Amino acid sequence: MGGLQVKVILLEPQDDLISLIASRLMKAETDYSSNIVIFPEYRPGFYLRRFLAAQEKKSFVPPQIYTLDELVNQLYRQIKGRADHFLSDLDAVALLFDLHRQSRSPLGGESFQTLDRFLPWGIKIFAELETLKKATVPPEKIAEIDLLIDEKLSTESHLHFQSLSTIYRQFYEQLEKRKASTLASRYEKVIQHFPFEEFGEGERVIIAGFFSLQELERQVINLLGEKENCDLILIKGKGLGELGLQLGFPAEEAVAWEETKPSSPSLQFYLSPDTHGQIFALNGLLKDKLKRCERKMLPQKLVVVLPAVETLFPLYQFILSPLEENDFNISLGYPLSRTPLFSFFDKLFDLLQNADEEGRLYLPDYLRFVLHPYVKNIFFPEPRRADLTRIMFHTLEEEFLHQKNRSFWRLEEIENDPAIQKRLLARFSTLAEVKEPAICLEHLKNIHNQTIRLFLRIESIEEFGRKIISLIEFIYHSTTARQHFFFHRYAEAMVTRLEELGRSQLSQFQFEQNFGYFNLFRNLMTEARVPFPGTPLQGLQILGFWETRGLKFEEVFFLDLNEDVLPGTSKIDFLIPLALRKQLGLPTYEDIEKKVEYYFNLLINGARQAHLFFVENSEKEKSRLVEKLIWKKQKKEKIPDASTLLRSVRYQISLKPRKGRCIPKTQEIVDFFRNFRFSASSLDLYLNCPLKFYYAYALNLREKEEISEAMEPRDVGLLVHRILENYYQPYLNQPLTLAGLDLNRLERITSSVFREIFGPTLSGNALLMYHQVLRHLKDFILRYQEPIIRNHRPENPVTIIGLEKEIEGDWLVPDHRFAFVARVDRLEMRGKKLYLLDYKTAASEANYSINFKKLNLEDRSSWPEAIHSLQIPLYVFIASQAFRRPPHEIEGKLLFLGKNRIDPSIEYSTLAEDGEGREFQLKTIAEVINRLLVEITNPQIPFAEEMRLPGAEEKKDSSRTKIVRLAARKACEYCSFLDLCGR
Ligand code: SF4
Repeated sequence: MGGLQVKVILLEPQDDLISLIASRLMKAETDYSSNIVIFPEYRPGFYLRRFLAAQEKKSFVPPQIYTLDELVNQLYRQIKGRADHFLSDLDAVALLFDLHRQSRSPLGGESFQTLDRFLPWGIKIFAELETLKKATVPPEKIAEIDLLIDEKLSTESHLHFQSLSTIYRQFYEQLEKRKASTLASRYEKVIQHFPFEEFGEGERVIIAGFFSLQELERQVINLLGEKENCDLILIKGKGLGELGLQLGFPAEEAVAWEETKPSSPSLQFYLSPDTHGQIFALNGLLKDKLKRCERKMLPQKLVVVLPAVETLFPLYQFILSPLEENDFNISLGYPLSRTPLFSFFDKLFDLLQNADEEGRLYLPDYLRFVLHPYVKNIFFPEPRRADLTRIMFHTLEEEFLHQKNRSFWRLEEIENDPAIQKRLLARFSTLAEVKEPAICLEHLKNIHNQTIRLFLRIESIEEFGRKIISLIEFIYHSTTARQHFFFHRYAEAMVTRLEELGRSQLSQFQFEQNFGYFNLFRNLMTEARVPFPGTPLQGLQILGFWETRGLKFEEVFFLDLNEDVLPGTSKIDFLIPLALRKQLGLPTYEDIEKKVEYYFNLLINGARQAHLFFVENSEKEKSRLVEKLIWKKQKKEKIPDASTLLRSVRYQISLKPRKGRCIPKTQEIVDFFRNFRFSASSLDLYLNCPLKFYYAYALNLREKEEISEAMEPRDVGLLVHRILENYYQPYLNQPLTLAGLDLNRLERITSSVFREIFGPTLSGNALLMYHQVLRHLKDFILRYQEPIIRNHRPENPVTIIGLEKEIEGDWLVPDHRFAFVARVDRLEMRGKKLYLLDYKTAASEANYSINFKKLNLEDRSSWPEAIHSLQIPLYVFIASQAFRRPPHEIEGKLLFLGKNRIDPSIEYSTLAEDGEGREFQLKTIAEVINRLLVEITNPQIPFAEEMRLPGAEEKKDSSRTKIVRLAARKACEYCSFLDLCGR
């Protein structure tokens, strides 16, 4: 390693790199083109051009500005006869995959034999081969890996790496044979052919802002340094001495490269409980600044640094979106896999991948896909409006809810199902703006064709890529997607990656199964980034961490300074393990951490003021970089307690519960409820919360039903009711006998009910549920029904007299007769007593009990706490009227089928068995029902959670000014009307 001839200029972090470079450029008039400036990344070049423009104040010819990689590519192209093919990462994967399949001991073992599985692995292998080459690890040393493996690696890793040296050799040999090159091989060639006649004659070369170099990069810099007129401008800082040593400077000199003058930026530390807290605090700071800006635009000397890219969207939503487009500039790479465009394709491919063997689509996946914003907002053909497509898919969803237990559908079945067509046509016929309702059927078919059907058959990767691009174009032209934030950028990034795929040698590969293509897509996009390559250089700068290299700002707002983000090396997954990296002299985690710390310090020490934000909670801790700064400040300012340096971000969230609404009763509402048909469930709801009752029965609002993957308890309940109704039907009006109970019949009925609902082939959840329900119902017959029959003598047999029966009655209060209805699952006589039975698939009685000890008729607030359901007493009252029997001859029972142990004790009643206790209970409940009916129709009592008793104000009687609770205290916990109610 020879010493460098180059002139080294060392700057302090506070110095301005860009103005110094500008001062050293040669120029003829306004022509700077005889200068070559090389930066570690492209962005400082914009700043240099802007600086020169401000200096010249007229048009000028800028210097030639490159990153080191760009310069090497440029020089490579100048080498005679090297007009070869540049191997993209995807071409490299194709070549590696070929070698992998031919190998007798493939890298990674046998686990990566299909291209979709090999792709992410292949991209990593390629990156490591290039690192090995750039580090100029000699082939013999790579061959020694086999020996190193024995000492350092586990057997599994051993298998993975034993052929790395072979693959390294084969890969670069093939490259030569195919007249192709990679970046690392270009570095090698450029070094071999240096110097070039064409390059650098009479030019000034300035290499600026570097911190570390790989061996081939160092060699290129050394060669450039041999030229006259070459400056190497570096900024002093911790860790830079290693570069000095690497470039051949004596150790004493290199040490001095790390000694900086003390700097004292003003530092503020912000501790936040989460990301939104940081954004909240940042917003406050920027708003203050904006108020003080004359042009109402934040200056470009302000930078917001985002080392964690996921913070970009909250930042955009809460801070940037109100600004004008040119008032800020974003420059960072955002992972494509986190964009809605990726999620759209992911949902589409999930849908296709989860189809059953007959190609039928799984309904929850289908709905997830068609309700994705890009699909449900496809323009309807005539009139061209997106809301009509939303209506179409929501109508379709309603019909699916109706037929909800059928889980798998063919596209043709969805398009041609008579019930679906009928419902769609009925809905569209009510829309005056749609002249031809039948268009909706064509529209549905067209959407299927443009999206799902497009991917049913795929011939090759190249065709697959074309199909995705054509679908992106369809989304662009036929939906509202282009109005969404950043859609253009997402689409452009995805299309670029797919075009690369189409041009690459991977494009001719085929998969036997379509899921190979879908996995390939996912793996391909996981690696891709959406570039936000901002250049306007005006307004607030939003930069990723690495984009700040070589730049200086007056005021820095640094977000997400957490250990897992910066340095964040725990997330880096090198293919070659650490032990081997060290042996081979490859960059390690420690090297990356040093680099992070160097550029972090440069940015902070170069600023006048820095605001450092971090999150601290049970999962996150502050970055060691912040810890060091806090400690430094503590020592300097002699502050013993670090917490006094931190500003805690606090939300001003009021945890005091808000009051619910209070809805007064109009005469119309009063009349409505005077003519209402009450049931046990409506009264129970009123008791639980009068507002809930109002929303459900006066406004007729219901929680939206979803089609979910697991079966809802309500659906299981409906199934069980249907099976039991069918099963007991033949026994109606005749005594039940043990001999008559038939378990085979029960099995046949259960199977036919399931098949009727889920289709002829039961699979997945439906099959599982079938077995569970059948087992439980068999238990019900054997352990409940049989003992009940046995317990009744032949002269007092059990006889079912009604199934799923509706019985009606009325309720007389002093001035009005209210109508009541009860639906009873089963009515049966046991001797002289009438039993009303209701099946519950739950296991616990808690929601149906009445605690008579807690119930105080004169204390209205006690009612909702003591009474959980009026169902059983109401059964008794209504049946007593309907069947003209005294209440003591009627029993209401709930059968808890969900209990683990099934026997006659699953019968439950809220009422005492017999005698005075029961009579008292019925009397008390009758009075509760009386008073509730009067209350519901009293215009002076609003629908509210609680209220002051009427007349209390006027009488000034303290005993009557008390607030009365009408609703249960825990009513709001799972209330579906919470948002509407405003609690
Ligand atoms: S949120 Fe509470 S007060 Fe409002 S309707 Fe629901 S239960 Fe009643």
